[in-house]
Amino acid sequence: MAITPATDLGPATGLICRECGASRDLGPHYACEECFGPLEIAYDFGAVTRASIESGPRNIWRYRGLLPVPSAITDTPNTEPGFTRLVRADNLAESLGLQSLWVKDDSGNPTHSFKDRVVAVALAAARELGFKVLACPSTGNLANAVAAAAARAGIRSAVFVPSNLEAQKIITTAVYGGTFVTVDGNYDDVNRLASEIAGEQDDWAFVNVNVRPYYAEGSKTLGYEIAEQLGWRLPDQIVVPVASGSQLTKIDKAFQELIKLNLVEDKPYRVFGAQATGCAPVADAFKAGHDVIRPVKPDTIAKSLAIGNPADGPYVLDVTRRTNGAVEDVTDDEVVEGIRLLARTEGIFGETAGGVTVATLRKLIASGALDPSAETVIINSGDGLKTLDAVAPVVAPSANIAPSLEAFRAAGLA
Ligand SMILES: *Cc1c(COP(=O)(O)O)cnc(C)c1O
Repeated sequence: MAITPATDLGPATGLICRECGASRDLGPHYACEECFGPLEIAYDFGAVTRASIESGPRNIWRYRGLLPVPSAITDTPNTEPGFTRLVRADNLAESLGLQSLWVKDDSGNPTHSFKDRVVAVALAAARELGFKVLACPSTGNLANAVAAAAARAGIRSAVFVPSNLEAQKIITTAVYGGTFVTVDGNYDDVNRLASEIAGEQDDWAFVNVNVRPYYAEGSKTLGYEIAEQLGWRLPDQIVVPVASGSQLTKIDKAFQELIKLNLVEDKPYRVFGAQATGCAPVADAFKAGHDVIRPVKPDTIAKSLAIGNPADGPYVLDVTRRTNGAVEDVTDDEVVEGIRLLARTEGIFGETAGGVTVATLRKLIASGALDPSAETVIINSGDGLKTLDAVAPVVAPSANIAPSLEAFRAAGLA
């Protein structure tokens, strides 16, 4: 497929290799021709101001001047994700001994996870690049987001997931009516299969494989929103869940761009990564002081984070080390306790990835790695309704009674 002169990807000017810095024209490319390193988008940002952003729609397209999407993106039917709430979490802060804590609650997106952001950007770019089918390998949330976005755009979707996925995520993908394949294998098997299919089907855009440079930019909107919602300020510390590591590295990229564009004051901030112990290749490398990630076979209830061979793992190490952060991991029991703690203290029911992040926050405070007096943001990246099995064994109603006042009194609930 060739890119035409009419292709409009907004401020994007080209592709650049994250390893060797070689540049390439915009197009449906994801690997460097020189060194096979991953490509990312290069930009020439025009005059982006706080006012120009604030006058935009209340979704990620308010930042379209900073994304590789057509300037007329808001005229095309899409899921309009983003601008989710930033919740001041005083109760959770108090219970953890923190002075100032915010939860960026991305369960408020159209398919209830942060994946709607990356898919919306990938779809906009994929259409512009001439792809006909929106596809992905997924650990669950991406499948939801791709199937829904394609339905809304009126194009075909083709989604591949491990067959042992949570029942909730199977149903909430199948309902959108695209091509939906469960594969007997783990995510890393599904991902390899997707790369092989992408090699044969050249009009299929696998959002996180062959259009990954575009997809990844969608995560920057989390960073932009956090800064804007704090009143155009960066937080002191942020804790981010890590699967492939794309979200964490792009939040950092967003903060760097905001500083360069003079949209926020330049100040130090620390980025922390959160993983489940049953799939912690990046945390393991961080703690061992290694630069290379050793792949693992995932075994955790945090299935949305269960990527054993994370594509952006080395870049997560770069960002967390450069910003004086860390990558930490927590057990499945701690994940369940993290989900319950967030729900009990703030009325937010996060999915297992949210539990990983809350539990990691707690662990980082206990170990002294995170400063309890510094302003902290954590990401709740998905909705607990999609991972009910994680908490089902440990939560229950207070009582079951007959519909009478006597029964109520006898139950001792007053
Ligand atoms: C995919 C996902 C993540 C992390 O994504 P990466 O960018 O691959 O690190 C975090 N939380 C949830 C709920 C997800 O679905």
